Amino acid sequence: MAVREVLPTTLTDIIQETPRVCTFRLALPEQSPFSFRAGQFVMASIPGFLNTKGRPVRRAYSVASSPRDLEKGFLELTITRVGDGGFFSNRIHECRPGDTINIDGPYGSFILRPSDEPPPERYLFVASGSGIAPLRGMIRTILMEDRKVPVSLYYGYRSPSDFIFEKELTDYALVRSGFELVTALSRSEKAMPEESPVPNFRKGLSGRITRLLPELVREADGADIYICGPPEMVGQSETFFREAGYPEERVHKEQW
Ligand SMILES: Cc1cc2nc3c(=O)[nH]c(=O)nc-3n(C[C@H](O)[C@H](O)[C@H](O)COP(=O)(O)OP(=O)(O)OC[C@H]3O[C@@H](n4cnc5c(N)ncnc54)[C@H](O)[C@@H]3O)c2cc1C
Repeated sequence: MAVREVLPTTLTDIIQETPRVCTFRLALPEQSPFSFRAGQFVMASIPGFLNTKGRPVRRAYSVASSPRDLEKGFLELTITRVGDGGFFSNRIHECRPGDTINIDGPYGSFILRPSDEPPPERYLFVASGSGIAPLRGMIRTILMEDRKVPVSLYYGYRSPSDFIFEKELTDYALVRSGFELVTALSRSEKAMPEESPVPNFRKGLSGRITRLLPELVREADGADIYICGPPEMVGQSETFFREAGYPEERVHKEQW
């Protein structure tokens, strides 16, 4: 059941993913009716953090965990501290375990295909920066539900220290059969790809992930495609997949 009223959660853990990005683990109240579908977002607010009109400052954040994680009583938001002027993102990075974070939702139609529908031939995820957040929730869901469908993740970020969820995603590529991971560095023009122990994991290619799509994706192959990142990256990816012959209804996108 969706909760439209504001739900108080307790911040239990803060995981430093990169110098500018943290994952905030939020514990739900016991017997909370909150539910969501992988890929959706919530509106977050902080008690007492008000705008000039005296109303709560609210921002949208994709749920980066899986609906399956709700069974353990938590959800996660992965938030970039945007720096100068980042009103809410700076404030939440000052929160500490034990603090209350309010959420309402879920919202949005960027949703992983449910497991009771016929599966696609492949899941193909394309992300840059914090756009990895909802895709990580989807990927966790596919793996936790043991869906027997190959997964490809093409992920772009600026420089080596900006790889969000590095350990978790690397572990998937090394351990899970049928999981392909390719990462690209947009700010390291002379980056040398790192040696990889497995052929399905290529790390640190040079250039924007959108520029690499033509060499990574050769033909329309029945994949469900999920793209998330800044508008320019999402637009370029969408154009690429349309021109590569993927039907529009298979290409899903979220941008911010
Ligand atoms: C559906 C949806 C899902 C989202 N999911 C996430 C998520 O999972 N993780 C996440 O970190 N954000 C996410 N966002 C963005 C988030 O809602 C906020 O916009 C963001 O945190 C900035 O809010 P702020 O109050 O800190 O900045 P504001 O005070 O609103 O903006 C301050 C300045 O920062 C600039 N700015 C805003 N965002 C960025 C950015 N990402 N990089 C650089 N400059 C920026 C603005 O242009 C502005 O000049 C999502 C947005 C939407 C619409």
